[in-house]
Amino acid sequence: MPKPILLSVDDDSDVLRAIERDLRSQYGKDYRVIGSDSPVGALELLKQLKVRNDSVALLLADQRMPNMDGVGFLQAATQIYPEAKRALLTAYADTTAAISAINQANINYFFMKPWDPPSEHLYPQLDDLLEDWQAAYRPAFQGIRVLGTRWSPKSYELRDFLARNHVPYQWIDVESSANDAETKRLMEALGPESGELPVVLFPDGAKLLEGTPAQVAEKVGFRTHSETTFYDLAIVGGGPAGLAAAVYGASEGLHTVIIEREAPGGQAGMSSRIENYLGFPAGLSGNDLARRAVVQAKRFGVEFLSPQEATGVRIEGPYRIMTLADGGEISCHALMIATGVQWRRLDAPGVDKLQGAGVYYGGGTTEALSCKDEIVYVIGGANSAGQAAMNFAKYAERVVILVRGSSLSSTMSQYLIDQIKETPNIQIWAHASVIEAHGDTHLEEISVQCADTNKIERVPATSMFIFIGALPRTDWLAGTVERDDRGFILTGPDVMSNGQRPKGWQLDRDPFLLETNVPGLFAVGDVRHGSVKRVASGVGEGSVAVQFIHQYLSKV
Ligand SMILES: Cc1cc2nc3c(=O)[nH]c(=O)nc-3n(C[C@H](O)[C@H](O)[C@H](O)COP(=O)(O)OP(=O)(O)OC[C@H]3O[C@@H](n4cnc5c(N)ncnc54)[C@H](O)[C@@H]3O)c2cc1C
Repeated sequence: MPKPILLSVDDDSDVLRAIERDLRSQYGKDYRVIGSDSPVGALELLKQLKVRNDSVALLLADQRMPNMDGVGFLQAATQIYPEAKRALLTAYADTTAAISAINQANINYFFMKPWDPPSEHLYPQLDDLLEDWQAAYRPAFQGIRVLGTRWSPKSYELRDFLARNHVPYQWIDVESSANDAETKRLMEALGPESGELPVVLFPDGAKLLEGTPAQVAEKVGFRTHSETTFYDLAIVGGGPAGLAAAVYGASEGLHTVIIEREAPGGQAGMSSRIENYLGFPAGLSGNDLARRAVVQAKRFGVEFLSPQEATGVRIEGPYRIMTLADGGEISCHALMIATGVQWRRLDAPGVDKLQGAGVYYGGGTTEALSCKDEIVYVIGGANSAGQAAMNFAKYAERVVILVRGSSLSSTMSQYLIDQIKETPNIQIWAHASVIEAHGDTHLEEISVQCADTNKIERVPATSMFIFIGALPRTDWLAGTVERDDRGFILTGPDVMSNGQRPKGWQLDRDPFLLETNVPGLFAVGDVRHGSVKRVASGVGEGSVAVQFIHQYLSKV
C-alpha cells in the first residue's frame, strides 16, 4: 500500500529543500514527501495523483510565489483533495495577511519561516494536523479501476473479462455516480480523457482509454505467447474438461499448455452456483471452481495462454500443429479439443444491436448487482437459466423466466424447480417467446409472443439474459476433424463406419474412446458428439483421455 503524501510547494529552492528535509526526517517512515517549485506544476501533479488514487495528507505552500500565491494554490488544491490538511509558510511581514487569508480560505495552520528548531515550531503542530487527518483516513482502493457506463457494451465486455479472469477491480459507473463528489473530482482530474470510456486506471498510474480486454490482459501480464513452440500435450479450451486434462496430464509428467480464448472456467465459470458437483455439498460458484482448478493446474506446471484463440490445425507426420489468432503456431504430439459450446443467438430484431446494453448471453454474474430492484427477464428453461434466475432473485425486485413450453419440468433439474417455487420473486411466464427487443442506447422493452393466446405483449424491460441452448464452434477444424451435422466432434466408435477405421487412419488399432479420426487428436467435454453436458462428465472425460494420450505417446 503506497504511503500517503505530504506535498510542499515553494519557488525558493533552498526553502523547498529545507522543508522537504525536515518533513522526511520526521515523517518519512509513514509518508511520502514530495516537493514542487511551482504551484501550477503542483496542481498538475495533484491531478495525476488523484487519477492514481493516491492519498494526500498535507499540502504545505509558501504564501509568496509568482503567478499564484500560497492561499490561491491551497484553494485550488482543495478542489482536488478536499480532505488534505492545508498549511501556509509565511514570512513574519506577511503574518497579518496570512491570518485573514486563513479565515477566508479555510486553511488549517500557518508556519513562520524559519521554523527552527522544527521540534518546537513545526513538528508539534504538524503532528496534530496529521493525527486529525489519520482519524478520518480510509485507505484508497489500490487495484484496477474501470470507469464506464452501465449500458456500454465495451464496458460490459471489460468487466466480464476481468471478473471471469479473477482480476480484482473497482467499477465506477460514471453515470449513476455522476453526483458523487469523488467521482466528479476524478473525472475533472482526467480532463478530456474522461470522455474516452471505458477508462481503465492501473495502480502504477498507467491508463487505458477505450480499453479492450486484450490491452488489459497485456498490461496485467497475462501470457498470450507460449514459452516454447513444442509440447507433449496442447489443450484448446480451459473449461472443466480442458482443466481436468491439464491437471492429470501435467501431474503425470506431460509438458502441457492450455489455449483459452476468454477465461479459464468456460461455461461452468459463468454458473452462479453448481450444486451437483461431487464433493461440494453446499455447492460452489463456477468462478470458484475455475479459480481452484487454475491454481491446481499451475502448481503442476501447466502453461496458460489466455486470452488466445486456436484458429486452425494441420498434421505433419507425428506433429499436430495449431495456428493461433495472433499468427503464432504451437506444435505438439497430442492435441486435445475441449472447446465446449457457445450460446445460441436469439434471432429476433433488436437483440444483436442491444447486446451488452441490457441484452446478455449467459450468466451475467457481473450484472447481477446492477439489476438491484429491477425486473429481470431470463429467457430459457434449462438448468443454466434456473441458476441465473436464483442468483438474480437475490438482487432484483422480480425475475421473470420466459419459457416456450408449458413448464420447466421437462428441461430443468427438480432441485432447481423446487428452489424456484420457494422463491417468491421469481415468476414463470410459460408459452412465451421474445420476438423483438426495443431501445436506442439500451434495452427498454421487449415484445413477447404468447403461444396460447397468439397475442403479442410489449413490456418494459431493462435486462434480458438469454439461455437458449448452445452449439459448438468447430469450423476451424473442418477438413481435418470429422464432425456431425451440428459441428460436434466425432470420437471413438463414432468415427468407425461399418466396422471400418476412418479414412487415412494408418495405425494398427481402432481409435481410442475419446480419439478423433486423427490419431493423437482427442476431443472431450461438451464439444464431443454424444457427450453429457455436465461439469462432472467434462472433468471425467478430460481425466480419462490422458490415459489414452499416454498410450498414444508411448508409440509415437
Ligand atoms: C450458466 C451455466 C450453468 C451451468 N450449471 C451447471 C451445473 O450446475 N452442473 C453441471 O454439471 N453443469 C452445469 N453447466 C454445464 C457445464 O458448465 C458444461 O457442461 C461444462 O462447462 C462443459 O465443459 P467443457 O470444458 O466441455 O466446455 P466449456 O465449459 O464450454 O469450456 C470451453 C472453453 O473453450 C474455450 N474455447 C472455445 N473455442 C476456443 C478456441 N478456438 N480457442 C481457445 N479457446 C476456445 C471457451 O472460451 C471456453 O472457455 C452449466 C452451464 C452454464 C452455461
